[in-house]
Order: sequence, then structure tokens, then C-alpha cells
Amino acid sequence: MISYPDYLRLLPKAELHCHFIATMRPGMILELADRNGVVLPTRDIDSLLDSDNLQDFLTLFVTANDVLRTADDFADVAYQGVVDAVRDGNLRYREYFVNSQNSRRYLAYPDLVDGVIDGLRRAEREFGVGFRIVNAINRALSPEDAVAMVREMIDHPRDEVVGIGQDHLTEDGREAPGMWVEAYRLAEANGLRRTAHVAETLPADPESVLVAIDDLHVDRIDHGYRAADDPDVLARLVESQVPVACTPISTLVLSGWAPEPDHRIARLIRAGANVTLSTDDAVFFRTDLGREYVEGLGGMGFGPDVAKRVSLAGVEAAWCDEAQKARLRADFRAQHLALDTLLDPASAA
Ligand SMILES: [Zn+2]
Repeated sequence: MISYPDYLRLLPKAELHCHFIATMRPGMILELADRNGVVLPTRDIDSLLDSDNLQDFLTLFVTANDVLRTADDFADVAYQGVVDAVRDGNLRYREYFVNSQNSRRYLAYPDLVDGVIDGLRRAEREFGVGFRIVNAINRALSPEDAVAMVREMIDHPRDEVVGIGQDHLTEDGREAPGMWVEAYRLAEANGLRRTAHVAETLPADPESVLVAIDDLHVDRIDHGYRAADDPDVLARLVESQVPVACTPISTLVLSGWAPEPDHRIARLIRAGANVTLSTDDAVFFRTDLGREYVEGLGGMGFGPDVAKRVSLAGVEAAWCDEAQKARLRADFRAQHLALDTLLDPASAA
């Protein structure tokens, strides 16, 4: 027999909202800084990773990004990130946000993605964990720069790189989804999938979810929590069934929203939105995929049926090809059945 927390940790998982840089082990930030002669603001890893608001966190994000300089650095981080996530949360498939704009001073776009692909292919051969890559628009840069980023992706196509997303905030700290319409149109016209970070924290507007759906034509949404505060937006989100890649522990760290039954993610789930769970930035939020399910979903009061639905929703919302999706679906269903027979019913009550 296994307890419900163990059941949640062992559930097979497909993670769709994961910033590549944050799959790096804390020790690896120091190791790569040494390898590349980068001076960090501190060598005390705890104070380095200390952030409790989005702006502080974004400064940290830039610092961590800066230690990665070569394709081999990216390959090493990619490989180790899979090892950790398999151990901590039974990761079976993951989509990564890389950011070619942040790394272009050191590495050309094709070299960056080929490094990531190398590391992830090696991990896939060893652990059977599939992947795709999504290039993130740095919202602190200009809309023209975002368009140039998409053009670069079109000029250097890779089967593994399937779409665009976002990171950072605008220079004045906003999400501003409407700024990126041209980049999203170009991506759409060239067969790239689209997701956007919207409605994450209290200053963000619930309506930004509708901007993402109606103007950016997204296939997915990252965060989307503020939809829970506006009945009309929530109704549209539920009706659209656009998958929402939610990250519970990040909301605890950045917004102080504890995982409890009234959490906005819990409200999205109960309303029937198409929710999947991810870590967002595991190393910075000191989380892992297992914890998102155990403390996140468990803390919100959801039982095994919702947990299995959320686990499978990650497969259905993935941007891999249909054959790979069918294999994942079969694997997930078999593992769900096996875990159900092991679960101590008293612990899930
Ligand atoms: Zn994110």
C-alpha cells in the first residue's frame, strides 16, 4: 500500500510550463560560473536563490542565464534536469522554454537549441522521457526583437522546436500580451504553436486571458489564475478548453497564495478549465514536479480522480506528434491503473 502523497509523487507527469534555465541544479550554477569565469553576486547558494517577488526573481533569472555560455553547458544542464525530474516526480515528457534572446551574446540560436536537443536526446535514450522545445519571448525587449526571434526560428527549423512562449515582464513590469501580436501572427503563419504567460499575479488583468485567446491565438496559456476572479473570463476559458499550464508553488512564493481549496487554481479546476500542472522555475522556487502535485493539488483538496485527470491533461495538451502522444496516453493510463491498486484508500479520503 502507498499513501496518497506517494501516489501523487509517483503519478506519471507531462510538464508543459518549465523554463529550461530553472531545471539547473543549484550546485550547477556555481559549477558553470567557475567553468566560464562568471562572477556571481554571491557564492552562497541560499542567498543567491532568495527571491519573494517577481522582480527579484527576474533578476535572479538573468543571473542564472548568464552562467550558460556554450552548447555543451546547455547539453549538461538539459541532461541533469531530466535525471532530477524523473527521480522527484516521475517525469515522462516535458516541454522547455529556452530563451535565445538572453543567450545570443554568447551563442547563436542554432547552437543553443542543438545543445539543448543533444542533452535531452541523451536523457531520452536513457530514461524514455520525451520532449519538445519552445522559444520564449523576453518581454523586456521590444516587439520588433520578438519578431526577429521568430524569424530566426523559421530560418533554422528543428523538428524538436515547436512553438513560442514568453518569459520576463515588460520593462515597466507588465504582462502586456497585446504587444506581441505581430510575433504571434508570424509564428502562426509558419506553423509554430503558441502559448503566453498571462493573468499571473494580482496586478495582472483577468482580461489578458482573452487577449491571449482572441489576439495571440494561443494553443495554451501559462498561469491564467486571475481568470478565477472574473466570471465572464472564466466562462470563456472553460468554454474554449484552451489548456492552462498552472504552477501552484510559484503562486505561493510570488503571491503568497497557499495551496488550499479556495486557491485560484482550485477554482479553475472546479469550474471545468483544462488545467495541467508544472513547476515553472523549479530551482528558483525550490520546488519539483512531485511537490506541485503533493502540496499543490493535495493541498487544494483534490483526490485521485482529479489528479489522474490533471496528469493526463498534460499529455493531451502536449505539442508532440500524435504517435508519441498515443504512446504517452497508453503509458499514463497503465501507470494510473497500477497506482490505483496500490493506493491505501484511507489515506486518500
Ligand atoms: Zn513561466
